[in-house]
Amino acid sequence: MDCLFCKIVAGDIPAEKLYENEHVIAFRDINPQAPFHALVIPKKHISTLDDAASEDLEALGHLQLAAAQIARDQGFSSDGYRTVMNCRENGGQTVYHIHLHLLGGKAMGWPPYTDTLKQPL
Ligand code: 5GP
Ligand code: ZN
Repeated sequence: MDCLFCKIVAGDIPAEKLYENEHVIAFRDINPQAPFHALVIPKKHISTLDDAASEDLEALGHLQLAAAQIARDQGFSSDGYRTVMNCRENGGQTVYHIHLHLLGGKAMGWPPYTDTLKQPL
């Protein structure tokens, strides 16, 4: 399968690995959007959050727990941080192997978009 993140899991493309367990690996984002920016990905290929199934429950939980562990390891867990998973076009997903962004090291704004919310869904 021609998937960038599957190639990182396989070791065919280098990445600065920060964490690994049976279910997930984490590495630094190549284009950081915060002083610290890592991606935590399942070793199993899942294209989008919308494609995840009940059999993926454990791996999805490991994504969040690995992010929390990395934040502790990096020393910014008490200051706080953000985890984000983008889904498809409106979510801003560009790599179609799910990944949890872990952003830390500065205070971040909310909401994440700048235009005015006109009509709630
Ligand atoms: P998305 O926009 O899909 O939520 O996030 C994809 C992320 O993957 C982006 O933040 C982008 O910088 C990162 N990325 C894309 N290609 C590579 C790569 O080859 N190596 C690493 N480490 N990160 C990548
Ligand atoms: Zn993949």
